[in-house]
Amino acid sequence: MLLRALDLVLLAVVAVSAQSVDSRIHQLAGQEIARLVELYEYLHAHPELSYQEEKTAAKLVAELESLGFKTTAKVGGHGFVAVMENGPGPTLLVRTDLDGLPVLEKTGRPYASDVRATDDLGNDVAVMHACGHDVHMSSFMGAARLVTKMKDAWSGRLIMIGQPAEERGTGALRMLEDGLYKKWPRPDFAIALHTDAALEAGKIGYRAEYAMANVDWIDITIRGVGGHGAYPHRTKDPIVIASQVILALQTIVSRELRPIDAGVVTVGSIHAGTKHNVISDEAKLQLTVRSYSDESRKLILDAIKRTTVGIARAAGVPPERDPTITVAEDEFVPATYNDPDLVERLVPVWRSVLGDDHVVERDPEMGGEDFAWFGRETPKTPIFLFRVGTVGRDRMQAAESGGAPLPSLHSPLYWPEPKPTIEAGTKAMTAAILELLGK
Ligand SMILES: [Zn+2]
Ligand SMILES: [Zn+2]
Repeated sequence: MLLRALDLVLLAVVAVSAQSVDSRIHQLAGQEIARLVELYEYLHAHPELSYQEEKTAAKLVAELESLGFKTTAKVGGHGFVAVMENGPGPTLLVRTDLDGLPVLEKTGRPYASDVRATDDLGNDVAVMHACGHDVHMSSFMGAARLVTKMKDAWSGRLIMIGQPAEERGTGALRMLEDGLYKKWPRPDFAIALHTDAALEAGKIGYRAEYAMANVDWIDITIRGVGGHGAYPHRTKDPIVIASQVILALQTIVSRELRPIDAGVVTVGSIHAGTKHNVISDEAKLQLTVRSYSDESRKLILDAIKRTTVGIARAAGVPPERDPTITVAEDEFVPATYNDPDLVERLVPVWRSVLGDDHVVERDPEMGGEDFAWFGRETPKTPIFLFRVGTVGRDRMQAAESGGAPLPSLHSPLYWPEPKPTIEAGTKAMTAAILELLGK
């Protein structure tokens, strides 16, 4: 009898290990999804602004602790680091962001947020997870739960981090400055996912090489010589100069950047003057600039400075009143460069677990993501930010056939379809971890 019982146990062990990793992922994700959707609805209903993510982080840290991760809170603000050591092998960093946005939710979902908070400037604002960071957290926790139950299938060190203040573009750098790559082992790879507001729920999107752009913020003050509106010949009119500058800046991308390189120069704000008949003595412009390579970025920023100063001088503004041009270096977000080898390694894994038609190549975008900082430290860590589709099939089809357009990320109307989105996010992230830390 004893032998027979042992035989049966052995047979069961053989059967479990023979069960493919894919089918274990499906089975475990199926078991966890109700709990993950519940977590999602909780997080969605309780968003916190950038640099205020205290309760959000605490909730995830408590769950990771209960799974056996060794956690450290308050890394670079409300960021956290959770480590699971599971034998010899590489080190993989998996990142979720934590923050919501100052947006008044209008989705009408039963779990919609009615949270209000005080922003940095002291304003009372509504808060919403309008960028899907609640999806990121739920999928992240889903992957944490699955890989904890599949420790026999991987070997190495898994570092799962919650990053604050993604929406400010500064949280990733704060974590690095707080010693993320010094106090903890430097990862061999870093991966993250982001919602996609134009991709069907259940699908994964990828892009090799540049996927998202360098983001720069620039403030320009054009200083003229003010006076009476009826006596322009005694002034240097900064509004006319600003108008010429704005049009001239549009020739940088079209005439100076290589035609096959991408770039954007947007003047998003112009303010000058007080009254009909007064020529102001200054005009203020606010710009955002997008590019991919470091070289393109430098070319565009240099050209903005040269063009702006040149036009002011041409108008006769004395050199001591040259325009001031300030690039906000501490708010710069570098372009996301998805490591081609990493992409090539993970895409087939996702095709296997989700099906060929559920893994699609996406166009590069001019939005920015500060996850890119995790790949900028020397020596460089290969990074890969992939996308998870969030739009229900009915809404997708309606939009494609001329119905209601799909709301973009950050829209008060944006809502992901929780179950298929988080299920795909969890499966894709789990499969990626098991591939990169595979035995
Ligand atoms: Zn966002
Ligand atoms: Zn985001």
